[in-house]
Amino acid sequence: VSMVAATGFSTAKSSKIMAEARTIMPGGVSSPVRAFKSVGGEPVVFDRAKGSKAYDVDGNEYVDYVGSWGPAIVGHADDRVLAAIKETMDKGTSFGAPCALENELAKMVIDAVPSVEMVRFTNSGTEACMGVLRLMRAYTKREKIIKFDGCYHGHADAFLVAAGSGVATLGLPDSPGVTVGASQSTLVATYNDLETVKALFQANKGEIAGVILEGVVGNSGFIVPDKAFLTGLRQLCDDNGALLVFDEVMTGFRISYGGAQQHWGITPDLSTFGKVIGGGLPVGAYAGKREIMEMVAPAGPMYQAGTLSGNPLAMRAGIETLKILRQPGSYEYLDKQTKKLIDGILAAGKAAGHAVTGGHISGMFGFFFCEGPVKCFADAAKSDTDKFARWHRGMLERGVYLAPSQYEAGFVSLAHSDADIEKTIKAAKEVFAMI
Ligand code: PLP
Repeated sequence: VSMVAATGFSTAKSSKIMAEARTIMPGGVSSPVRAFKSVGGEPVVFDRAKGSKAYDVDGNEYVDYVGSWGPAIVGHADDRVLAAIKETMDKGTSFGAPCALENELAKMVIDAVPSVEMVRFTNSGTEACMGVLRLMRAYTKREKIIKFDGCYHGHADAFLVAAGSGVATLGLPDSPGVTVGASQSTLVATYNDLETVKALFQANKGEIAGVILEGVVGNSGFIVPDKAFLTGLRQLCDDNGALLVFDEVMTGFRISYGGAQQHWGITPDLSTFGKVIGGGLPVGAYAGKREIMEMVAPAGPMYQAGTLSGNPLAMRAGIETLKILRQPGSYEYLDKQTKKLIDGILAAGKAAGHAVTGGHISGMFGFFFCEGPVKCFADAAKSDTDKFARWHRGMLERGVYLAPSQYEAGFVSLAHSDADIEKTIKAAKEVFAMI
């Protein structure tokens, strides 16, 4: 349904740019979800972003709840972060040699996250997860890993595995080009279901290097783990000599300053980071106990490297972002604004007669068009995605930019004002009434 006539929303310039883009880049984008395939319609092309707002090439203004998929937690183009980047840029953008800013950011991560004693920087969350996977295997001298259905750990071959129904069987590749060889050591369990993990440990005794998970899921929509599930995983890993790995690429410095692990009071052996710690520039990191991290080259034999890894620009953007975040009240503010937002959206949805279920922790939120609770990917898949597509379009046309997929979380920043939240809830009421 187009609501263009009602709202005067026009995206002619975006359409022109996307038409050309599709002829020169696959699907017209550099990362698939941006193409709006799952919600239909044409993506809008951004021109600039500031604070809580993004502006497209046609001059439309949006309250942005994507925040570059998480990094923009202090708001887009924060003046303090920009000034720091400019100062650093004048001294050069990349050295391919050690720079002191790496120490500074590494120390900030170590101070923030109690399980972390050493850090290796990469250029993306995908690379961080590739590194941590190799390290899990190198350290334990075992090949198999357990991941969860619906958890995303970047696009490395071993992580692109569909669950299928037989959780105890070997994983099958999720994408052409991923070999059986690359994915057969990836075992898939059900999130929030400890029994599926126990069964895999039992069927693969002494063969499992570790378990990797999102400590709050953002890649099947927003799904919260039960505390008992997490403590059970910690115990199962300890009992089986396996490593517990928290993928904090999305949740790190987002769910709390110490990430999902701090929020839940769980101590993993290793963690991955990305998004927020790069302050909007390309960064990832894997990190954890000294004894394990010293396996990584050149301290140890496990090879992993990067031409641009630890470059000064990305380090400085991360440092300034974390400095803002660690000021008192930051996470209270994120929680307060996000609660107002999701409570308002859920109330509006229910008032209009829709089945909706959702929630938030700190500045991360989401909801599904179905009855709750949603505890795992199979639950999330019950959501009415056609309705989500109409909701997404209606909100876009009213100046609210949400992730263009039911299976993505939303993000609130320190720049999201009361007026932004009120505008969003007002738009939600209108859209819920017509979808
Ligand atoms: N892990 C998680 C939990 C993520 O959410 C993402 C990206 O969304 C990644 C890994 C991959 O990070 P990147 O997109 O920086 O490669």
